[in-house]
Amino acid sequence: MATLGIPSNTIAVLQKYGFNFQKKYGQNFLIDPHVLEKIIHASEIGEDDCVLEIGPGIGTMTQYLAENAKKVIAVEIDDHLIPILKDTLSAYDNITVIHDDILKVDVQKLCDTYNEGNPIKVVANLPYYITTPIIMGLFESHVPLSSITIMVQKEVADRMQVGPGTKDYGALSLAVQYYAKPEIVANVPPNCFIPRPNVGSAVIRLTRYEKPPVETEDEKRMFGIIRAAFNQRRKTLVNALSNAGIYNITKEKTVQALNEMGLSPAIRGEALTLEQFAELSDRLG
Ligand code: SAM
Repeated sequence: MATLGIPSNTIAVLQKYGFNFQKKYGQNFLIDPHVLEKIIHASEIGEDDCVLEIGPGIGTMTQYLAENAKKVIAVEIDDHLIPILKDTLSAYDNITVIHDDILKVDVQKLCDTYNEGNPIKVVANLPYYITTPIIMGLFESHVPLSSITIMVQKEVADRMQVGPGTKDYGALSLAVQYYAKPEIVANVPPNCFIPRPNVGSAVIRLTRYEKPPVETEDEKRMFGIIRAAFNQRRKTLVNALSNAGIYNITKEKTVQALNEMGLSPAIRGEALTLEQFAELSDRLG
């Protein structure tokens, strides 16, 4: 099977199988070898690595991953792609394709089955409609992961990197920065995909921290508070938390905690750093 990623080879496979792109699955296949090489390089995959690829499509990046890694597990939801993958990946004996929805897969079990419970690396050109649940699911489930290198919408990559005081700062920024060090590796224009997405894309690498950069008594409570703060981001933090009705947090308790932290009772959640959210969560505990 010819190397995919070269536009003419990809088009030949799509024609051979009469493949119709499904918008509902966020299908935009990569057709730029240069971008594929950049992703592989950024993910630092070596011959001892076990890689989880989310959404292999017709197997374009899967081929590159299989050339570099010990083992590749590729999870694909679309029935029509399964026979195509069998064909395009037939030359490799280190790939397992799993036909399932990544949001329903037990990733811990995959690590145990294919990598003796050791950390795996995630590499993917993600379906953009479920970027946030995929990333949050991977982090919050605490499965052993050393890094996640993913293609996402440019705006989402920016959101993962920014700090307080910017319009893109939100719950996703804080969650990503609690678990990992984010670095944008490349900006990728729409013409690197077939069909072309109507947004710009970026490759971002998230390197998992061994220990989070801040300490908090109760991670779940801190993220509950963060989500409540950004669900009503135009409201003051005091109002947003009391409206959310979580953890018996009253306006009085929040005002007192902010006061002890030297912060104004009129402050909004979007002005707080991760460290301040951790402290606030502990004070409200
Ligand atoms: N990796 C391929 C590439 O780079 O050319 C395809 C990437 S495409 C942006 C996203 C892929 O994810 C598609 O193949 C799509 O069918 C698959 N997908 C969408 N939702 C999924 C889900 N919930 N679980 C697993 N795969 C999914």
